[in-house]
Amino acid sequence: EFVFEHQIDSVKTELIDSGDRIEEESPLPELENEKKNLPIYAYKEQLMKAVDDHQVLVIVGETGSGKTIQIPQFLDEAGYTRRGMIGCTQPRRVAAMSVAARVAREKGVKLGNEVGYSIRFEDRTSQKTVLKYMTDGRLLHEFRQQLRKEPILASYSVIMVDEAHERTVNTDILFSLLKDVTRARPDFKLIISSATLDAIKFSDYFDSAPIFTIPGRKFPVEILYTRAPEPDYLAAAVATALQIHATEEAGDGDILVFLTGQEEIEAAEVIVSEKIRKVGTKMAELIICPIYANLPSEVQARVFDPTPKGARKLVLATNIAETSLTIDGIKYVVDCGFAKMKSYSPRVGMESLVVEPITRASANQRAGRSGRTGPGKCFRLYTAYTFANELDENIVPEIQRTNLGNVVLTLKSLGVDDLLHFDFMDPPPAEALVKALELLYALGALNKRGELTRVGEVMSEFPLDPMLSKMIVASEKYGCCDEIISISCMLSVGNSIFCRPKGKEILADNARRSFHMGDVGDHIALLNVYNFWKDNNFSSQWCYENYVQGRSMRRARDIRDQLERLVARAGIPLLSNVNDLDAIKKAIASGFFPHSARLQKHGDGYVTVKHKQNACIHPSSGLAEVCPRWVMYHELVLTTKEFMRQVTQLKPEWLLEVAPHYYKVEEVGI
Ligand code: ADP
Ligand code: MG
Repeated sequence: EFVFEHQIDSVKTELIDSGDRIEEESPLPELENEKKNLPIYAYKEQLMKAVDDHQVLVIVGETGSGKTIQIPQFLDEAGYTRRGMIGCTQPRRVAAMSVAARVAREKGVKLGNEVGYSIRFEDRTSQKTVLKYMTDGRLLHEFRQQLRKEPILASYSVIMVDEAHERTVNTDILFSLLKDVTRARPDFKLIISSATLDAIKFSDYFDSAPIFTIPGRKFPVEILYTRAPEPDYLAAAVATALQIHATEEAGDGDILVFLTGQEEIEAAEVIVSEKIRKVGTKMAELIICPIYANLPSEVQARVFDPTPKGARKLVLATNIAETSLTIDGIKYVVDCGFAKMKSYSPRVGMESLVVEPITRASANQRAGRSGRTGPGKCFRLYTAYTFANELDENIVPEIQRTNLGNVVLTLKSLGVDDLLHFDFMDPPPAEALVKALELLYALGALNKRGELTRVGEVMSEFPLDPMLSKMIVASEKYGCCDEIISISCMLSVGNSIFCRPKGKEILADNARRSFHMGDVGDHIALLNVYNFWKDNNFSSQWCYENYVQGRSMRRARDIRDQLERLVARAGIPLLSNVNDLDAIKKAIASGFFPHSARLQKHGDGYVTVKHKQNACIHPSSGLAEVCPRWVMYHELVLTTKEFMRQVTQLKPEWLLEVAPHYYKVEEVGI
């Protein structure tokens, strides 16, 4: 049991000199030693024998035992790369990039040559690549491209589906497709690797495949709970981390704090830095390392740098650090008890990321991160009662809580006709499947018989939500593909375009408003940001002066380059129609017509046209105070109430123009 002390300014600690920093990359021999110390190393021979003897193998091992980074290398040494590549799938982009970089370093090769990775919008592989890390989504993409090729996945000798316990939609679809590959190709090996013990389920699914267990090395972890529920877990997390830093001797271990997302992590970073600055040099140096999906890879890599002597590392992470990435030297874990989860309501037909309590399995994984190299401590920012009685035991597979639009499109494009009888490990709710089929039909991706149309085929080429892909396909008709892909890439970057630094809120808000001039709506405002930035030669200085996040913009530009290539491949001419805003908005409406809403009579917000859902315009929208009668929105997010994010004004007659099969004249009131 522990008590929070939100006041740390009074804590006195000796000043510790942290002058000597280790800056060189570790030389290879040292990595060789590290490698041999991993639990998995002792099982190398046995493991390779098991792979030899069985076509499908389920591997279970404690997080950090070396599965992801070592097994593909073992397979390489055992000669499997002579017959083809070793592919290793990851649910998360960051993990694919980061582990590939590590493997390249261990092998002393340049990333992108023998060892590479492939993630959406970025392919760092070459002719030479034999060890290929990729997101599960990328492998699905390869399946689709090879649909008519025999034998399928011929360039791979082994596929390792890693982090299988996460049960992402893509991984779940891969299970079934890969099962077929094993039946068609006796020479093909499949490894399913998981960090938790639900291995029996995997084994059952793959016709009783054997389970190989790698016993982990685990030290005792002391678990501490709060006495009462914490009303503000962010403040509590920061206070706890600082308390640990102040009271436990630096140099004896680093701190890992689990938060739910980028915004929280950035906020925590600001608070911690401020507090530390106030305390001055009375405390040992604290090196703050954030890690989350959108962080640029150079910054991400910093989290793995060894902590200089006398200092302490404070890692602020999303659940990426739960099982996908292992950071050495962690002795203290602070667990806020929440994570961002995709959730989907089939009734309303919307998908959103919501902060939800984690499962007991996750809580235990998080705690385990502190006991890898010695005894650890885990501070849970919730009560023992909550842990025992309120958390779910295990995760619900994503396929049962997602917008299935893309899943269905993917399956259809993979030639799967009978979705209701597809060999899902856990089938999604039939209701959600039907909703997805309806949406795709409404978007024109499927015909009445449920077959993929030409439009659907083109849409499935884009790694985007079906509504976004439809908007791009439709832009051809309105001659504004150029603008639409700029808007798409800006939407894909998410809500991290504008920044609002403390003390400069008014300036930032003014800058932001200037992009909305003429109440053009959020989509056009995003387009304006992109175009102004482009007109200023993509300058960082311009971003700084306009309170725009340079790194988000650079990511948007990368995505745009990719989209430009995809659009060219799909044969859509890259026409620009920047002065006809209505044309651009009609193209948007062609994809987002299901997301239309109208202002209610008595000024109490909006109601969505199709599902009669109450909603408000998000306060961050340029139209929040304008309140047009008709709007379309990019997404609905549920916080204190339902908010529409990225909103644009709509003329109701457009709904009939772009979706005459979907809206009736009465519904749009004309
Ligand atoms: P598992 O997949 O079984 O969870 P990993 O294959 O990720 O385990 O390997 C764990 C070991 O590799 C840990 O000691 C970890 O610190 C080290 N490691 C993993 N990624 C990196 C990296 N990018 N930089 C440095 N060390 C890393
Ligand atoms: Mg791993």
